[in-house]
Amino acid sequence: MSARGMDYLEVQGLSVDFDGFKAIDGVDLTLLQGELHFLIGPNGAGKTTLVDALTGLVKGTGLARYGNQDLFALKAHQIVRAGIGRTFQTATVFDELSVLQNLDIAGGLHRRTWRLGLPRRGVPAEVETVLETIGLSALRDRPAGILAHGQKQWLEIGMLLVQDAKVMLLDEPVAGMSAEERDETGELLQRIGRERTIVVIEHDMEFVRSFADKVTVMHAGKVLTAGTVAEIQADERVQEVYLGRTADAVNADPAAVAAEAVGEEG
Ligand code: ADP
Ligand code: MG
Repeated sequence: MSARGMDYLEVQGLSVDFDGFKAIDGVDLTLLQGELHFLIGPNGAGKTTLVDALTGLVKGTGLARYGNQDLFALKAHQIVRAGIGRTFQTATVFDELSVLQNLDIAGGLHRRTWRLGLPRRGVPAEVETVLETIGLSALRDRPAGILAHGQKQWLEIGMLLVQDAKVMLLDEPVAGMSAEERDETGELLQRIGRERTIVVIEHDMEFVRSFADKVTVMHAGKVLTAGTVAEIQADERVQEVYLGRTADAVNADPAAVAAEAVGEEG
């Protein structure tokens, strides 16, 4: 529990309308600090749009409250300042800049307020800590462009850490990662998730099974069901809509599920 006490993000009746098409349709969600919350569902379910709405990139209606702040009354940059960060399905690091420079840019938001005009003397302690946390200390001076796919995603997570994001909304952070990279990412999220509120969008059921505390399943803009991994796996509706086929596929054959999810990528 942080000094702020019970940090959580509360979403009620969230809807997003694209010219009459309801991409999100009355979603309720409570995201608690210290829980790794996974958001799953077939392609087009509305997962990315949900994150877009919570971060001010698309207009959402309904209620989204973090602490005493009404997110829908804030602009995108104010939402970042309120401690809510997100990553995108495609990495957004600056390839030509070093790992450290990428972190520096991300941290600029906060540094500006207390170090304005001061010359930089070495690497700030909080950035050192982040480099260690994301396992990129040895690569700090290398251009981000040479990083492996997984390392780029870790750098993006590091950029949220230097921003001191208390809520992290991660859009398919392990897509395209090797099995080892996935495990390392899951462990990283567990470490940093204790004092944060983390939402992970992911298709791969193997990964979800290994790391999710709580899972919300979306379908066609609505929450189909939510619960523990065991609870949602036991739910026939999940097997029907998520897999588009019958029976024990979720339990029996994670590799096939992952392959299918990758094939559907959009
Ligand atoms: P997911 O991330 O779960 O795959 P998305 O949130 O990207 O799904 O998309 C949900 C639905 O909203 C899809 O049908 C998609 O085509 C539609 N959609 C997403 N963004 C827009 C947009 N800017 N304009 C119109 N439709 C959109
Ligand atoms: Mg998406």
